[in-house]
Amino acid sequence: MTDKLELDLEAWRDRLPAPTFRVTRLGGTEPPFSGALLAETRRGRYLCACCGAQLFPSTAKFESHCGWPSFWHEAAQGAIRRLEDTSHGMLRTEVRCARCDAHLGHVFPDGPPPTGERYCINSLALSFDADD
Ligand SMILES: [Zn+2]
Repeated sequence: MTDKLELDLEAWRDRLPAPTFRVTRLGGTEPPFSGALLAETRRGRYLCACCGAQLFPSTAKFESHCGWPSFWHEAAQGAIRRLEDTSHGMLRTEVRCARCDAHLGHVFPDGPPPTGERYCINSLALSFDADD
């Protein structure tokens, strides 16, 4: 894994578009079915919108009908950090970029085989690097 990228909140505010800052640095959630990458079907790599780390391959994306881009596995072991999230009276598992600690979304145990996991990710937390 590449070196960690640590910046303070004001530095992130300066470098990110406001909607991306709200989601990734303040733990926000974009409205369902609003994300630019929700319908993306090209082959390529999904990168962290903050630091460019590779998070998900396009081959891991699937249509979950939940309103956010969904993936059943991460790009590489250790690309993503998991944290227990007890906000909103629920027990969920938050997922963050392991390199820069950006909030990405949550992972749920109702995905397709073989992992059985569904990473439910804000489109605003991702950028897409298409093959050719
Ligand atoms: Zn990152």
